[in-house]
Amino acid sequence: MSRPVSYNVNIKPLESDISIGESPEGVPGEGFFATSLDKVVGMARKNSIWPLPFATSCCGIEFMATMGSHYDLARFGSERVGFSPRQCDLLMVMGTIAKKMGPVVKQVYLQMAEPRWVIAVGACACSGGIFDTYSVLQGIDQVVPVDVYVPGCPPRPEAILDGFIRIQDLVGKESLRRRNGEKYKLLLESYGIQ
Ligand code: SF4
Repeated sequence: MSRPVSYNVNIKPLESDISIGESPEGVPGEGFFATSLDKVVGMARKNSIWPLPFATSCCGIEFMATMGSHYDLARFGSERVGFSPRQCDLLMVMGTIAKKMGPVVKQVYLQMAEPRWVIAVGACACSGGIFDTYSVLQGIDQVVPVDVYVPGCPPRPEAILDGFIRIQDLVGKESLRRRNGEKYKLLLESYGIQ
């Protein structure tokens, strides 16, 4: 007796072109490629970002969609979402942050090793959103430095991906000396971080 459903009736041809990450600027040659250390480290870092989703409300649901197969954040080398700050380098704050929660966001940030980056996802994380009230933090940049702001209430997964790509640009172009520089030290000191 034949099976009621047949599989692979119309076999699709295999895709021949596999997309490969852009190589940094440099001098190509036969069997070698010369470039600077900054660019190699930047390329490696930007294509292997480990996000820490700090999701407190509705924007977190949009992030779930962003991780799902349709939008698929893993395409950018970030399928390894971590929930320990000690292993992650990108803090993604998604949702309303109450003032009571502010010190927790800061503690999580402090537990992350350098280099670390931060995205504020959605109007609440960026500016408090519609909650202009006594209990809500009016933007997470009051407690930690933010690298990229993603607007929207909630932002669509495309907007979250766009913010993520902007972080990748920053990560790829960041100088290896930036974190030891005076300017960065002053930025952290403005947040009371030594
Ligand atoms: S920005 Fe809008 S969707 Fe996102 S957490 Fe705030 S209220 Fe919810």
